[in-house]
Amino acid sequence: MSCCPGTRDLNRLPMIDISNIHKTYITGNNKLHVLKGINLKIEAGEMISVMGASGSGKSTLLNILGILDNHDHGEYLLNGIKIEHLNERKAAQLRNKYLGFVFQSFNLVSFKNAAENVALPLYYQNVKRKKRNAIAMEYLDRMGLKEWAHHLPNELSGGQKQRVAIARALIGKPKVILADEPTGALDSVTSQEVMDILTEINKNENITMLIVTHELDISRRTQKTIRITDGMITEIVKNEKIVMNVMS
Ligand code: ADP
Ligand code: MG
Repeated sequence: MSCCPGTRDLNRLPMIDISNIHKTYITGNNKLHVLKGINLKIEAGEMISVMGASGSGKSTLLNILGILDNHDHGEYLLNGIKIEHLNERKAAQLRNKYLGFVFQSFNLVSFKNAAENVALPLYYQNVKRKKRNAIAMEYLDRMGLKEWAHHLPNELSGGQKQRVAIARALIGKPKVILADEPTGALDSVTSQEVMDILTEINKNENITMLIVTHELDISRRTQKTIRITDGMITEIVKNEKIVMNVMS
């Protein structure tokens, strides 16, 4: 129902709804309790950042949200679907349907060119080569990289590599993009350009976005910043839009 613009539709499910999530890594005799009861609701279309010191559990949380790792306790609902005890086939199915990933180190396949990298998710969905290459070209074009389609990753700049990775994340038409320090390997100008692209995607396509970052000027460009300290959420800040910032 969309009866009342500006009011929250109480019937709408959050895109991500986690409660009391715990995660402990066990290596040999060592137990490391990394996530200590995380509660978080993210509505469809929100753009949120996660900040916290190195080792505080940000990537662990993102991996659980990305169904790349399991939580030990607590509940995770992805668009209302309970994520628990999934076999790899079901997990992959949900990842394909709902999630796109962007990483600090781009994670491109080094011996495949830009177009082939973008097309990769479609290969796993058994889309024929000609069709998937044509679709990949559309997405590269949207990223302003059409001319670079046949270049290998090591022939691209950091910013170009991240745009290829974003195109690859988008080609599966995800509902959510999970980005783990997407600007961590980029200079500040290129970082802002990558944020421009992510913001535009969030606005135009209503794709929910969760961005882990170390940088305040990146987190400020999201609607809300969640701070994780030692495996717990310790602060949620709403980022007001700064229209002008003049020192007087
Ligand atoms: P962040 O992304 O905030 O830097 P991580 O979630 O990567 O933190 O890691 C949190 C803690 O868990 C760190 O101490 C890290 O060394 C540890 N850790 C991460 N992944 C594993 C793993 N697969 N096995 C054991 N320990 C891990
Ligand atoms: Mg990390």
